Amino acid sequence: MAGRSALRFMTPPCCLFCHDQPEFRHGLCQICWYALPFTLGSCCSHCGRVLVQPGICGQCQQRPPSFDDIAAPLSYKNPVDKMLCALKYRQQISFARTAAGVIADNALARGQKRPDLLCAVPMTRRALRRRGLNQSAFIARLVSRKLGIPVNISLLKKLRDTDRQSTLSARKRRKNLIKVFSCKQRLDGRHIVLIDDILTTGATANEVSKTLTNAGAARVDIWVCARTS
Ligand SMILES: [Zn+2]
Ligand SMILES: [Zn+2]
Repeated sequence: MAGRSALRFMTPPCCLFCHDQPEFRHGLCQICWYALPFTLGSCCSHCGRVLVQPGICGQCQQRPPSFDDIAAPLSYKNPVDKMLCALKYRQQISFARTAAGVIADNALARGQKRPDLLCAVPMTRRALRRRGLNQSAFIARLVSRKLGIPVNISLLKKLRDTDRQSTLSARKRRKNLIKVFSCKQRLDGRHIVLIDDILTTGATANEVSKTLTNAGAARVDIWVCARTS
């Protein structure tokens, strides 16, 4: 028995997706890693929406977002949608490693200025009890560890429960979130990055950015694992 457990210890961990091949990067084997839907090509320089040619998308021209920059390395489609749902709703926390790895790799590849602090999208205590895990905070801690950037997952507070964003239209999403977040400390002149799993309309990212800017942040960037097309 001792021999078998030693062998298990020496065998490289298996891929979280296919459970067949050995791990290559951030929990995935080489085949599953290169099959991820990375967003290549041109993106809107404000919101990260995929565009035919480089520039600013029509929506951002009409209504510029309140954050400075966004990084969304993956498209929210198979198998990324399944992975992020498993993390969010079924507490399969090993997928947070993959999400954080993708975000950290992208931050290093972009080589932009190092932020002062990472933070996460907060949940109310009630919502956290119901779901059991704040995936945004979980991913933020792992990104912080990978990049050596400080994180404060309690920097923001959610002041009230809101309707689930995914059930609302874009306009209602914006209204649903007005003045829903507060920042617990002054951020005078600091460069803050908000970490989240998915970006859909950007309503949450926008409202959090406003809150951080009102608290004195000089720059707010958004780093998500995936964005919907
Ligand atoms: Zn695999
Ligand atoms: Zn845009």
